[in-house]
Amino acid sequence: MTIPVGNVGMWDVTVVGAGPSGSTAAYLLARMGFKTLLVDMRDLPRPKPCGGGITLKAARLLRDLDLPMEPVEVLHRDVVVSGYGREVTVSTPPDEFAIALVRRELFDHRLMERAVSEGARFIKARVSGVKVSNGTVRLIGLEESARYVFGADGANSAVALTSGVRGPWGREDIIVAMEGRAPPHDRLTFMVDAAPYGYGWIFPRREDSNAGVGGMLDKSREIMEAYREFSSRFRVKHEGSWIIPAGGHGKPIAKGRIILVGDAAGLADPLTGEGLYYAFRSSLEASISMEADQPAETYARRMKPILEELKAKRRAARLIMPRMKFFFDLFVSYPEIARRYMLSSIGKVEFRDFWRWAISRVPRALIKSKLGI
Ligand SMILES: Cc1cc2nc3c(=O)[nH]c(=O)nc-3n(C[C@H](O)[C@H](O)[C@H](O)COP(=O)(O)OP(=O)(O)OC[C@H]3O[C@@H](n4cnc5c(N)ncnc54)[C@H](O)[C@@H]3O)c2cc1C
Repeated sequence: MTIPVGNVGMWDVTVVGAGPSGSTAAYLLARMGFKTLLVDMRDLPRPKPCGGGITLKAARLLRDLDLPMEPVEVLHRDVVVSGYGREVTVSTPPDEFAIALVRRELFDHRLMERAVSEGARFIKARVSGVKVSNGTVRLIGLEESARYVFGADGANSAVALTSGVRGPWGREDIIVAMEGRAPPHDRLTFMVDAAPYGYGWIFPRREDSNAGVGGMLDKSREIMEAYREFSSRFRVKHEGSWIIPAGGHGKPIAKGRIILVGDAAGLADPLTGEGLYYAFRSSLEASISMEADQPAETYARRMKPILEELKAKRRAARLIMPRMKFFFDLFVSYPEIARRYMLSSIGKVEFRDFWRWAISRVPRALIKSKLGI
């Protein structure tokens, strides 16, 4: 079906997808004066499988962009990491928090409303693809054209695939995650032994918790099995399953008139599955790039440090995931490793600096464990 928006002429930018990346981009583009259309195949508010965990670094970015992080359910200062009968609690300083929890259906809706109040036009329509010709992009499924299209349409992005910016994800690029609603819990907890090549989480909110399990697609059968056990142990009422494309894949994120942001670009943290920070950050870099003569090239250049960081995290994930117990023992035995990891995950220390430092501790730890001291 073709949906006419009205006699509006050519859009400067059409953003496909009104999740966190698309609404952030549409807000910024409209604020910069671009004539912006924001399209989503669903009316908002709509549910989205997600823990709703916003790290301090993501929250700071939202604040810098003057975007609302609301409604916040709870701010957690303490993070418990448990597994193999042991646990460690990592705390942030009293005036800071590690993770803020939001409900995605409400949070995404607020962001979308913010984009609209800044001047972006929102419509509900499914875009089945894009066609680039003569300096414009035609949106299939809509009687609209734009000078540029932002693909913010999530993990299975039709914009990415039909434009040819990148091919489909490989198995090694995909994290599978399943989650639901659980009773209240006292502590925000990551469980590193809840699933092979992955982990479980319990994110306590005001009156209930979000809880789930995620891990690499290659182990999906074992992860499903682990989720069944986890659900019965923590009384999780299943809500949704989805895929998270992990960063560090090396595939292009922009070409010509097409710019991919958020999950469409495959930017989630390969170690933790955190995608929201990267959704906001890529949308910021993409929007700024629209002021350059060659937006796609400028965007790729601006994103280089982030893509390099994600590559380093993917290498770390490949090393850690099959040896989770060994690395968790290291984490528990050296509280300084846990502390520095926390600093890197909230954006106070570069991951690569943390990792270089942590890996230099491995030989000493191996000797200690061999000697049983
Ligand atoms: C179970 C689970 C738990 C997670 N927990 C966390 C967490 O706690 N913290 C964190 O930081 N990250 C988490 N993530 C990752 C995070 O959810 C994603 O990285 C984030 O949603 C990416 O945002 P996005 O805007 O790029 O894509 P999305 O949020 O997927 O939004 C894409 C939008 O595009 C629309 N769309 C799709 N196709 C079309 C089309 N053809 N035409 C029009 N519209 C279309 C969709 O309706 C949707 O609204 C989790 C993911 C999962 C699966």
